[in-house]
Amino acid sequence: MASYFVATHAHADGTHAVHDRGRCPPGTFPARGGAEYLGEFLEAGQALAVARLRYPGVRGCACCGTGEPAPAGRRDHLAPQRG
Ligand SMILES: [Zn+2]
Repeated sequence: MASYFVATHAHADGTHAVHDRGRCPPGTFPARGGAEYLGEFLEAGQALAVARLRYPGVRGCACCGTGEPAPAGRRDHLAPQRG
């Protein structure tokens, strides 16, 4: 389980970033008082769903893995084809 927070201040595009406190770099995680506790979740998607109940626009933080998965981590194309 990980502790998830949502930024209380929106970005320039109007979205609030959702962060995993244990994985987010100190320079990226909102300053004290700038993040609202969401709860403990197994997956970032669950935290994003809860954050959407509070703010109309939310997105994951790329720094701590709550955003889109990094394409560089995918190695599917290297797997042998089995038919
Ligand atoms: Zn983050």
